[in-house]
Formats: sequence, C-alpha cells, structure tokens
Amino acid sequence: MSYVGPTMPTTHADWQAMVAELAVESRAYIDDVFVDATSGDTFESRNPATNEILAQVASCDAPDAERAVAVARDAFSGGEWSRLAPAKRKEVLLRLADLMEAHRHELALLDTLDMGKPVSSSLGDMAGAIACIRYLAECIDKLYGEVAPTGEDSLAMVLREPIGVVAAIVPWNFPLMMTAWKIAPALAAGNSVILKPSEKSPLSALRLAQLAREAGLPRGTFQVLPGFGHTVGKALALSMEVDCLAFTGSTQVGKQLMQYAGQSNLKRVYLECGGKSPNLVFADCKNLDQVAQHAAAAIFHNQGEVCIAGSRLLVENSIREAFVDKVVEAAKAMQPGDPLDPESFMGAMVDETQHRRVLDYIAKGREEGARLRAGGKALEGPGYFIPPTIFDGVTPAMTIGREEIFGPVLAVFGFDSEDEAVAMANDTPYGLAAGLWSQDIDRIMRVTRRLQSGQVFVNNWAGGDQTMPFGGVKQSGNGRDKSHHSLEEYANLKSVWMALAP
Ligand code: NAD
Repeated sequence: MSYVGPTMPTTHADWQAMVAELAVESRAYIDDVFVDATSGDTFESRNPATNEILAQVASCDAPDAERAVAVARDAFSGGEWSRLAPAKRKEVLLRLADLMEAHRHELALLDTLDMGKPVSSSLGDMAGAIACIRYLAECIDKLYGEVAPTGEDSLAMVLREPIGVVAAIVPWNFPLMMTAWKIAPALAAGNSVILKPSEKSPLSALRLAQLAREAGLPRGTFQVLPGFGHTVGKALALSMEVDCLAFTGSTQVGKQLMQYAGQSNLKRVYLECGGKSPNLVFADCKNLDQVAQHAAAAIFHNQGEVCIAGSRLLVENSIREAFVDKVVEAAKAMQPGDPLDPESFMGAMVDETQHRRVLDYIAKGREEGARLRAGGKALEGPGYFIPPTIFDGVTPAMTIGREEIFGPVLAVFGFDSEDEAVAMANDTPYGLAAGLWSQDIDRIMRVTRRLQSGQVFVNNWAGGDQTMPFGGVKQSGNGRDKSHHSLEEYANLKSVWMALAP
C-alpha cells in the first residue's frame, strides 16, 4: 500500500490533501512479508500535532525478535548478500536510494505525521538519508584491503568482512535519517540488518521496508520490528545471535545496551547518545545579528529535539546583554506552527510525555533562579506545542544548565575569559558537538583543540555533509555515523598470513 495521489506537494493545502490519500503499513516486516506481532498486540501511533490516531502498529516482542534473528542469520550464512560482489551490492543500494527519492514526499509526510516535525524539515531529512545511502553504496567498491609490509617470505593481508547480524535501534527525532545513517553502512558492508524503529515513529521504517524489497535486497537481509525498547529492543540486545548493536538514543539506554552485551555474547555496541552542546560566542565576532540567528536556529530547529542542539549558549559578558536581545528577537520568527505548513519553522513535541518533560524543565529553570527572556508556556492544545524558550543567567549548577532537555529551551551563560569559556564548555558528561564564533584564527585553533567534543563547528552550527564522520566522545557515545569511517563499524578485520617458500 502506498501513496497514490498527486506528486510534488508544495503548499500547505497540497500536504493536507496528501494526508487524506496516504495508506499506512503498520505490520512488522519479517522474512520478506508483512506480519502481525506473534502476540497480536499493537500500540497506537498518534499525530502529536492533532492527537489523532494514525495507526495501530504491530507491537513486536521476544518471539518476533527470535524469529527475525534466525531469518537474518540464515540469510547471512546463505551469502546471497554477504558474499555478493561489492559492486552488485552497490547497485541494489543505489536502486533503494532512487526509490526513496521517488517517494520522498510520502516518506517525509510519514515522519511529520508520526513525530510532529515540520514537513519542510522532514524533506531535508529525506535528502540527508538518500545522500547517505548513495555515498556509502558508492564507497563499497572503492575501498581496498591491505597488504602488510612484511618480508619476502610471507604475504600478509588484512581483509574486511561483514560482522553478521546487526540490530539497529534508533530514536524518533530524525526517524528515517537516523535509520539511513545505520543501515547504509551496515548493509553496504554485507551484513543482515534488523531495524527497531522508535515506538514513537515507526511508520517511515515500515514504508522503507517495502522499498527495500522493491529495490531487490535479498530475503532476510533487511527486516523491521516495530515495538518498545523494553520488549523487542531488549530481546535483540540480549540475543546470542545478534553480532552487533548499532544504537542512537539516550545515554541512559546506551549504558543499558552495553550491559546487555556483557550479559549475552559480548556483541559489538556502537553508541550515538545524548548531548548538552555548548555554543561559544566571543566578543570579537563580526556580524552579531547573523550569529544570533544561527544561535537561535541551533536550539530551536526540530523543536530542540536534536542530539546536537546548541542548548548551552556561552556568551562573553561584554556583549551578553545586547547579544541575548538579538537571540530573543531572532526566536520570534521561529514560532511553532502546523507541521503540514511548509512555512512552519517548528512543529509539535513528539508526544505528551516529552511535552510534560520539557515543561517540567522550564518550571525548574524558574525555580532555580534563571531569568526567563522568552517563551516558557505551552500553546493551547490539542497538539503539543512549546514556543522558543530562553533563560539567561544560567549557571553550571542549575538543572537546565546540565541536563539534556531535548526541547526548545536555551540556557544562556556568561563568561569573562577564554579559559573560563572552555572550562564551562567541557563541564559536562557529554561531548557530542560544540560551536565557536570568533574572527581570531589563533583563538579558534586554541579553543577548537581544547573542546572535548566529537565535532566542532567554527562560525556555523551543524555544518557537514556525507564526507564527515558524526559521533561523540565521553558519554555521548563511541560510534561514528556517515563517511567511509562508518563502514569500519560494521566490518571485522581478518589477518591472513601466508608463508611463502624461498
Ligand atoms: P531512547 O534512548 O529512549 O530510545 C532510543 C531507542 O532505544 C528507541 O528505539 C527505544 O525503543 C529503544 N530502547 C529504549 N529502551 C531500550 C532497552 N531497554 N533495550 C533496547 N532498546 C531500548 O531515546 P529517544 O528518546 O528515542 O531519543 C532521544 C535521545 O536520542 C536523546 O538523548 C538524543 O540526544 C539522542 N540522539 C542522539 C543522536 C546522535 O547521533 N548522537 C542522534 C539523535 C538522537
């Protein structure tokens, strides 16, 4: 089942019309067919902008995981994909990318309906997801193995081999893009992949399964198990037959997955976890109006539900008052609106729980003495909308200055020196992203080197393309998505030493 209406929606009315025409697949995809969960259980998928029910989705659990893992193992051992020539795998993945491109509006709409982000933003995610699949498909027949520099009495080779069965467990904030970042390198490397989408955003993953089948991925190579973390997610993580867990989500769950790996088969665990990213603005930077625009977008894009949200804004005290005024001004143009309106900058929070959680943090900010400069109150229902919220005068001791809120709440800190700024920036268990704005190249290099972060954005926020690895340090995780480096996460090295006769 799929969308059969007019293509290329552009206006608000086009997107609304497209909703009426959309058909949604809500069953699990196991062994090449769409099936109900073994238990017959389902869970509701709701549109957080309207609170309407979108679908009753198959709620998979341990028996479904066990079945899918056995199918994936068979597929891997059979070699139809794992031993296929890389150039042939490339062809199939490029076909998948083409199909995704042809269906990008439908996929974008599914993500928007499922988790509340503006449809223009979802379309951007589709472009990112498709580019990722194309990039890694193109990499796979261009990366060579190694011949080690040994003596003439031997030939020593380092071969890369797929790991086996990979379980990819992903979050809801960029449903299809996070999925692509995992499955593209895992499939390109020749693994069998089981995807567990978030229970808050399973619909685009199920449509992707239809497209993967159409693209020609062999039976059992790609399966999708919707369901909850503590049921099917846990079963996959504890499975003795899953060789690798590729995870994007919270630090708390990431820690749990490492324990499951230890309790079971010591499977590889790649983690992309949370953040509380600092964005440092020095008084010497040039166009403060423009910087303020970027600083606001760094936190309010995707309703603040972004792992690399620039949620801590560190501003040199000599310009702080004036600069915060500019950020407040910029935020006025970033108000939430109907996610189906392509003009909306922000959409709805993903669900009631997240909505409540963000409002609780806002209450905490007030209680602990931060100065509210914008927002602070939810919009009237039925959807879960929170406007851009800005607190100034935040200190490192305050809860909103330390914990990942995952919502449109900016915490502004002041600093007087470079040393103080760096110390404050690094004073966090996280290390996913950091930004700095300055015109002084010496300062830029000094500070960049000292920031404890997987990525540093200089005079921009969130720049990057497929050529750059994405991941964190400290408790933001240990994996790298995107770029050819991501292929390393899904391959074993085999050392082959051949003794040669003199
Ligand atoms: P989450 O950790 O609650 O859930 C992520 C996934 O893990 C979901 O599919 C969930 O069902 C599953 N899960 C939950 N408990 C599990 C368990 N016990 N066993 C197995 N699976 C389990 O995170 P979320 O709320 O979906 O996403 C928000 C978090 O993701 C934020 O912390 C954000 O920073 C992080 N994130 C990180 C990146 C990155 O690249 N570093 C990108 C996006 C989001």
